[in-house]
Amino acid sequence: MPELPEVEITARRLDAALRGATVESAIAPGINALKTFDPPLSALEGRAITAIGRRGKQFVIEFTGDLALLVHLMSAGRLQLYDRRAGPRDRTSRLLLRIADPESDPARPRELRLREFGTKQAAWVKLLPTDAVDDEELIATLGPEAWPQPPEDLKARLKAPRPLHTMLRDQRVIAGIGRSWVDEILWTAHLSPFKRGDDLSDEEALALREAITTVLDGAIEHYEKVIALPIPDKLPLPLLVHRKAGEPCPRCGATIEAVHYEDYVMCYCPAEQTAGKVLKDRRLSRLLK
Ligand SMILES: [Zn+2]
Repeated sequence: MPELPEVEITARRLDAALRGATVESAIAPGINALKTFDPPLSALEGRAITAIGRRGKQFVIEFTGDLALLVHLMSAGRLQLYDRRAGPRDRTSRLLLRIADPESDPARPRELRLREFGTKQAAWVKLLPTDAVDDEELIATLGPEAWPQPPEDLKARLKAPRPLHTMLRDQRVIAGIGRSWVDEILWTAHLSPFKRGDDLSDEEALALREAITTVLDGAIEHYEKVIALPIPDKLPLPLLVHRKAGEPCPRCGATIEAVHYEDYVMCYCPAEQTAGKVLKDRRLSRLLK
C-alpha cells in the first residue's frame, strides 16, 4: 500500500524525467480504471506534461491546456516509467501514456504505466480540467499534509474518542499516513495505538508531531538513495516495527506484538507503548469464539 513517502519519491522521479515530455497516445487497457469519459483520454495526445505531483497519497499529473490526471493507486497500484512498451498480454496494465519526446530513443519509446498487482481492479484515474482537481471529493476532503510539516493544530484535529491508530490513517484528519507508517510513527512517539485521540496530553501531541516528521523524513531520505526509475514493483520500505511481529524491538529488545485485522496487521512494542499489556488479537479471539 503506497503511502506518502512512496508516492512522494515516485512523483519526484517521474517529474524529473517527464516534465516537458509530450504524450504521443494514451490508452486504458484496464477497463475499470478510467472513471471519467469527458474529456476522452485521446484529449491528452500532443500535450506536454507540465508537472507530476502528489496530494496525500494521490498523484496529480498536469498537462498543457489545463488538463490533469488524478491517479489513485489504491492498495496494489504502481506508477512506473519504462523505456519499452507494455506487451498486450501484460495483465497489470491499467493506463499507458506513451511518450513522444525527442529524448526518447525511437527504438525504446518511453511509457508511463499505471500497473496493478493482484486480482482486484481498484486503482483508478480521472481526467479532469486542472482546476477541477480540487473539487474532487477525495481531494476536497483531504486534511492537511502530514509532511513536510504536520499540522500545527494536530492535537485539536485528533480530539475525538477514536484510537490514534485509526485517526492518523483518516485522510480527512491528516493526509498521507496509512497502515505501514502509522505503526512506525506511534512506536517512535512511544504511544499506544489504542490511545484515544482526546486523551492525548500536550507533551504526547508534541512527541507525535515530531515522530511524524522524523519517520516520514527518514523514509523519504532512504528512498532518495535507493529508488530509481522505472520505480520497482516492490519498494524497500525501511520499517522497524510494522510487519516485525515476533522480532525483538530494535529499541528495547521486547518482542514486537501484532493485532491482526481482516486485511491488515497492527504492530507495536508492548514494553514501550502499552505499559507491558499485550493487546487482544482479534483474529485469535474470533477463532476461539
Ligand atoms: Zn521496545
